[in-house]
Amino acid sequence: MKTLRVLQIAVEASNTVVRDCSVETCTRATREGKDYCTSHVELHPYVRELVQRIEDRGAEDDLVRLKGSSEVNLTGITVAEILLSLRNGGARTEERLTREVQLDKTIIHNYLIRLSMEGVVRFGRTSRNNISVCLVNHDPSMEIEEEVE
Ligand SMILES: [Zn+2]
Repeated sequence: MKTLRVLQIAVEASNTVVRDCSVETCTRATREGKDYCTSHVELHPYVRELVQRIEDRGAEDDLVRLKGSSEVNLTGITVAEILLSLRNGGARTEERLTREVQLDKTIIHNYLIRLSMEGVVRFGRTSRNNISVCLVNHDPSMEIEEEVE
């Protein structure tokens, strides 16, 4: 899992405090006084919590794919990512959002339908007449990249 690897690198990267891994059968030392070695990083409470959130998110996205916009969790990770993408990048097509958030088109579409119903985003047209989406209260000064479409 990519996220775990990133965390593992972060744990490996710094520090010097040495203690033994809390897994009984493991003889490796840990870094930074942590309870688990880098091979057992998935046992760290914060990693477990993160994994749980990722699993919850996967379950939520599956529900949204199957049952539609009514299943959207407005305080979930996927909504946060979509809103961040729109805030940072301004109006964009669903296709582009699909690439940025890396979820399938049906899921993204159902999220956008719900966000539109909630009055958070609105649909429009690009200069090439494709359907686009943007935040209702979009602030262009928050954009961090050029619109290249
Ligand atoms: Zn270990």
